[in-house]
Amino acid sequence: MFIGIDDTDSEQGLCTTYLAAIMMKRLSRVGEIRGFPRLVRLNPCVQFKTRGNAAVAFEFETDQSKRARELALQTFYEFSDLSGKNTNPGIVIAEDPSSTITEFYRKAATDILSINDALNILENENIWHRGLKNGRGLIGALAAVGAEFADFTHELIVYRQRTRWGMPREIDAKSVWQADALTYPQTWDNVDYFNNRIVFSPNSADPVLFGIRGEKIEAILKAFQIIKSEPAELKVLYKTNQGTDAHILEGKISGVEDDRSYKLCGTVQDKPWIIKGGHVFFSIHNGSKMVCSAFEPTKHFRNTVKKLIPGDFVEVYGAVRSGTLNLEKIQVLNLVEQVSYQAPICPSCRRRMESSGMNQGYRCRHCRTRIQARHHVKLQRDLEKGYYEVPPSARRHLSKPLVRMNGEIVHPSR
Ligand code: ATP
Repeated sequence: MFIGIDDTDSEQGLCTTYLAAIMMKRLSRVGEIRGFPRLVRLNPCVQFKTRGNAAVAFEFETDQSKRARELALQTFYEFSDLSGKNTNPGIVIAEDPSSTITEFYRKAATDILSINDALNILENENIWHRGLKNGRGLIGALAAVGAEFADFTHELIVYRQRTRWGMPREIDAKSVWQADALTYPQTWDNVDYFNNRIVFSPNSADPVLFGIRGEKIEAILKAFQIIKSEPAELKVLYKTNQGTDAHILEGKISGVEDDRSYKLCGTVQDKPWIIKGGHVFFSIHNGSKMVCSAFEPTKHFRNTVKKLIPGDFVEVYGAVRSGTLNLEKIQVLNLVEQVSYQAPICPSCRRRMESSGMNQGYRCRHCRTRIQARHHVKLQRDLEKGYYEVPPSARRHLSKPLVRMNGEIVHPSR
């Protein structure tokens, strides 16, 4: 059986992945978990998410399916935080997910779906499910059951002992920097060098102590061995679509819709501008116009964006909100020549000349030499071609980090 769960936690506490970890532990009494459990990130733009729009699914083999279902359901009730205003838990147990469910996953990662979209499939295919309150969690639970990853990474999530929930986390910072130094780029987003922060551990009251993301399991386990922390209650290694760009749609500017994420090509139309709060904007054009933004939390990524000039050709990646694309990364494909129309040095007396007026060339005040031709100096561009990304502290879970973009010109942010 394939068990999918979503929307069981609230801002106040608990975590769907923790519920799944407990459920798997309990179920192991009556059967066997097959392969890695899946940590499935869905459309990061959905309105009702608590944090990172995650759902979990795992494959379970048993000859006691009735007992297994009872145990799963009991854990689901016990570890769902029904007090949460936006908590609407869902659990789905399917025998063999159909291609319709896999397609539902793809849509859930990129599009906005309704509870009825999930219910229609569940009823048509006669799939066992339970939804609490309005049952919105059935969307994520069904999507997780159907998830097939074209690309994947792993995350080891380590959970705190219950007696410590809500208390400050005890993690030896030095050991985290060391673990990162010894395993990057096979693990990533443990720390943010530029912003001098540890980013692999949440600050909230939930049961997660930290999560190590990476490509190779050996590297993740190596990092785990190095990190010194408070004792853990449980740890689970997930297979996940994090870091794969599974949320990104290819499209044309004219066809984009809000609350979806795209990669779009276009020519930079105007000089980037900055608004109060330090948010940077520019627009691209390719048949239609799209305003792109690098918000203040993207920190030094904004310095890259500010170096763009009209005429540069770029590919932008990000979520569209209120008609503006919020940048996750950018590929600079072509840089135009940047020139300055500074007055030239006088060829006779070597002093700086001055403009004689619009389109009237230059004159030298000292020796009265005149030049008619418009003079420009080619400036060195302080920007190279290739991909640039937001720092780890601002990265979306689904965004593919540049260290995973083999064979491309990349400028990773670490
Ligand atoms: P956590 O990361 O702590 O598990 P979360 O950020 O995953 O929390 P949820 O509490 O799971 O957030 O809330 C997200 C809700 O949105 C769930 O009910 C889920 O079923 C639903 N959902 C997921 N993807 C979509 C989608 N594409 N369209 C509409 N609703 C969605």
